[in-house]
Amino acid sequence: MIQDIGTLRFHNEYKKQDPEEKSRILCYRNGEALVRESGNGQITFPTYRELQAKGTDEAKTDIYEFTYLFRIDEVAYFLIPEEAANRFLEGFVWKPVSVFRSAVPKDAAFAGITGYQLWQWYDQRKFCPRCGQKMKKDDVERMMRCPVCGEMEYPKISPAVIVAVYKGNQLLLTRYAGRAYKKYALIAGFTEIGETVEETVQREVMEEVGLHVKNLHYYKSQPWSFTSTLLMGFFAEADGEETIRLDQTELAEAVWCDAAQIPEDDGVSLTREMMQVFKAHVNKKLEFHK
Ligand SMILES: [Zn+2]
Repeated sequence: MIQDIGTLRFHNEYKKQDPEEKSRILCYRNGEALVRESGNGQITFPTYRELQAKGTDEAKTDIYEFTYLFRIDEVAYFLIPEEAANRFLEGFVWKPVSVFRSAVPKDAAFAGITGYQLWQWYDQRKFCPRCGQKMKKDDVERMMRCPVCGEMEYPKISPAVIVAVYKGNQLLLTRYAGRAYKKYALIAGFTEIGETVEETVQREVMEEVGLHVKNLHYYKSQPWSFTSTLLMGFFAEADGEETIRLDQTELAEAVWCDAAQIPEDDGVSLTREMMQVFKAHVNKKLEFHK
């Protein structure tokens, strides 16, 4: 999945620091990131050393703020503002962030998408949501603080569920209405105020296809930074009445699909993995465990 970066380790602890020569620099604007492509889906981000080497008198790198984001193994990643894009080296281009769904190496793709979530958050928290004053970055935590009223804002992470509803050897596959994404998906939705994630599962399945579910089995979670979401995947068995009543504002289609007919797909999303896990479960009698 998108967060699987092999033997490398992602370190998200915040510790204010300056970039080193080997640090990688991320730059974004709405829906896009600056990357260098080198064929076969390979992407790279510039190092701080490369950026410094190209500095001109009018546009020295140090006029921009370098915001520490995270480390992958020993390599630290920093954010620079969009205005600094003209400082980038030749060969860097703006690409839609969806490029990170398939780009390699996987650690660069994961850094790119996780950095995008943080960029969105910093971009949306320039001003205090309570009193409207300019917010300041805290020195100790990854947090924005209002110097006037003291409001503290932390990165936004929205919990949501993915539900693989099954009966016997069949899995409920859905297609969204009115979206560009045309592949089959699973039931999904955000957790609402005052409910547990288990209740989210029950409510979303009822709202989208009119079914009750039982035997909820938590599978795995996935940070889905494109939308600042934390996805939690559940398998759930259809309970009682099996007639689908489709919510046509959300879904274009919902069908019971025999495990053998589930399309092979090695995509990076939790949805794709859960569909394949169900298929394997039915074929080999595996449990729904990780
Ligand atoms: Zn304030």
